[in-house]
Amino acid sequence: MKEEVAALSKEPKLIIKDTGKFGLGVFAGEEIKKGQVIKVFSGEVITFEECEKRIKSGDEARTDTLQISLELDMDLDDVSRTFNHSCSPNAGLRKTSELFALKSIKAGVEITYDYSATVGPNCPASLWTMQCNCGSKNCRKMIGNILTLPVEVLEKYKKHGALQDYILAELKKITKLPDGTYKTPKYKKILIRP
Ligand SMILES: [Zn+2]
Repeated sequence: MKEEVAALSKEPKLIIKDTGKFGLGVFAGEEIKKGQVIKVFSGEVITFEECEKRIKSGDEARTDTLQISLELDMDLDDVSRTFNHSCSPNAGLRKTSELFALKSIKAGVEITYDYSATVGPNCPASLWTMQCNCGSKNCRKMIGNILTLPVEVLEKYKKHGALQDYILAELKKITKLPDGTYKTPKYKKILIRP
């Protein structure tokens, strides 16, 4: 039993190659079991403001970074930043930055996660939205922060444990109003130094 747990927690072989449509992507180099850790994302931990500064100056793209709290981002390492978004992902993020399989993934299949699930409610549309053309039948076409997810999608990620700790903590402070909008705490405005 102990050996099985060890085997499940081992990171699988990953292959980086051209997707043919969206530039580089990360593919399973071997079969990945449902629930298995695919990769613990790593990178330089920077403040949200520093992150916005780097994006504004063109040094980084939003998709090269991962929000890990209301105040902090991770400027992702080369492999971590290569995973593409999908509106029908086969992987999700949990804890601080642990990518895991939402379903079993066959060797050769591209590994994707839903970027919206990782972008905090304090990141407004004025700072980030992305046009999506992922080709899935559930494609949302324009994606934004966690609160832009359709309720059923958000509930699905919650049920599968595919939300980071900071997102889970923040969602507890947010209520959905009858008109479908959310009541959130007042977030600090992000000031970007020139
Ligand atoms: Zn899409």
